[in-house]
Amino acid sequence: MIIQDGNTAVHETDICIIGSGITAAMMAAHLAEHASRRILVVEAGAHTTPFAQRTAARERYLAYGESPWKSDHLDDQNAFGTTWGYSPSMHVGGLAMHWGGVSPRYSPEDFRVKSLYGLGDDWPFSYDDLDPFYQEAEERMGVAGEQGPPALDPRGKPYPLPPLPVNHNLAQLQQWAGNAGIAAWSTPSAKNSTPFAGRAQCQRCDSCYPVCPTGAKYSPDFTWDTLVRERKVTLLTETLVRRLEADARTGRITHATGNRTDRSGAPVEIRATTFVLAAGFVWSPHLLLLSRSSAFPEGLANRSGLVGRYLAGHRNVNAYLRLPLELLPGINAQHSLVSKQFMRPGKQSRYLRHDLRIWESSVGREPRLRGDDSALLLGDAMLQDWQRRAKGATARVRGYYDVLPDRDSRLTLHDTQRNRFGDPMPNVAFRDAPESAALRAWQEEQLRELFRRMARAGNGEILRMENSANDLGQEHPTGGCRMGTDPTRSVVNAEGRAHDHENLWVAGAPTQPTAGCCNGTLTFAAVGLRTAAALAREK
Ligand SMILES: Cc1cc2nc3c(=O)[nH]c(=O)nc-3n(C[C@H](O)[C@H](O)[C@H](O)COP(=O)(O)OP(=O)(O)OC[C@H]3O[C@@H](n4cnc5c(N)ncnc54)[C@H](O)[C@@H]3O)c2cc1C
Ligand code: SF4
Repeated sequence: MIIQDGNTAVHETDICIIGSGITAAMMAAHLAEHASRRILVVEAGAHTTPFAQRTAARERYLAYGESPWKSDHLDDQNAFGTTWGYSPSMHVGGLAMHWGGVSPRYSPEDFRVKSLYGLGDDWPFSYDDLDPFYQEAEERMGVAGEQGPPALDPRGKPYPLPPLPVNHNLAQLQQWAGNAGIAAWSTPSAKNSTPFAGRAQCQRCDSCYPVCPTGAKYSPDFTWDTLVRERKVTLLTETLVRRLEADARTGRITHATGNRTDRSGAPVEIRATTFVLAAGFVWSPHLLLLSRSSAFPEGLANRSGLVGRYLAGHRNVNAYLRLPLELLPGINAQHSLVSKQFMRPGKQSRYLRHDLRIWESSVGREPRLRGDDSALLLGDAMLQDWQRRAKGATARVRGYYDVLPDRDSRLTLHDTQRNRFGDPMPNVAFRDAPESAALRAWQEEQLRELFRRMARAGNGEILRMENSANDLGQEHPTGGCRMGTDPTRSVVNAEGRAHDHENLWVAGAPTQPTAGCCNGTLTFAAVGLRTAAALAREK
């Protein structure tokens, strides 16, 4: 319901979800099925490139390098202090309009690193507790996957879709990995291996990111389009929530205030019985810190002083190897093999856990303008050079390793950078816990040695090795509103409800105590669905 109060549009609803990313999309779909309450979703950005325009957008990307996502951000809404690991993407669907769809689960050890290895923190629930929500997220997105050896890859039910095929290239690499003693299988991906949910089967055209032209790769706009068409949610776009207001006595959130991000900049107020902060890893803690008041001078949900702290993520070591195989460059190069055998070590004297991914690569085999003698290559000469060098095989391997977060791995309000409304922007500074930092050189050398061993097992050679681009950011970032049972050591409880505000919930990535060592979005969505299930049980 909308009431006009002077210049301010006042919206009234039961559940207000802030943000329209993948976590919010999963949660809204669950709530629409399990709770008969009105749902209003508020998104700071606009709708982005519609599905019907994605084939043309892909063509322009390939021809001119033009971004397929024209209106994917707000110019003045940026986080500072980090260069990698997140994008300031603010539009309907959030970051997962750009994502690659790679959807592995964390391993059971991720939830108990403290108990098993004596470092970091345990989660307030186990892998088995999350298994049904992993399944639900996989079914809602449509994840195609191959069951790995059950001891390494436990799951309660089969994947919803059959695996993406292990093609000629990957089959050869799978055999090579096997010779090195590594069990590897088709990486689970939110890409249709068969037609699914009214969307096409993957055509292996290999532009998954930046853009999938066929709709085979899941993106949250598909869920929003359905929910809006079926009138199950109201989606309020181009509306930035700038403050949550809490009753000083009860702590209950009474309303949210913000402004339109269109030209009007008009004020907006949202009244709801329940607020769900699903604004992603940067903007969720940021909004809580912005919402400080005389009753809550450190911001909301911040009695522990932990809002914005324990930012987590992971880093990687990457290698390119030349192998004496015959691969066909460029055939579905965005699909890969995965192994979980290094995510699940037993108790160790020194701590290292990592995932392992294997791709066919064209590195060292791309077409080039100059030959070995630097002479210019044109026309047939270029083609012949390429044909000669395209023979053989290059593999890319990568291990994401755990980085355990420090209390001072932190998001704060920036001293000088402000948006158009005068709100301070986030400043992000990642930091490893000292015990994690102390292991880093050894961990990276262990990974390099693994890759050398893999090269030797295939009579190959290492072409090049590299670490994550820099230390300013981490991949698949999480944290800032960590969950736990102790209100002095966490921001939200095990279900995502703020310890300090009974009708405020934080969803997904920001609530995670650690970030695991593989792509995290499936876990963000599963944790969000666990929160949605708890919310749906509320009367
Ligand atoms: C190029 C690329 C490739 C990737 N590939 C993979 C992959 O293959 N596998 C994987 O696991 N992950 C991948 N990721 C990461 C993945 O996209 C993100 O982890 C995921 O999308 C995060 O979802 P989210 O729901 O937590 O938040 P977000 O996507 O950040 O959504 C938050 C939304 O909230 C809105 N919002 C924020 N603040 C406010 C406010 N105050 N008022 C109103 N609205 C607000 C934002 O505009 C945004 O739309 C990739 C990311 C990129 C950029
Ligand atoms: S290979 Fe092509 S069709 Fe398949 S998911 Fe990627 S972009 Fe979409």
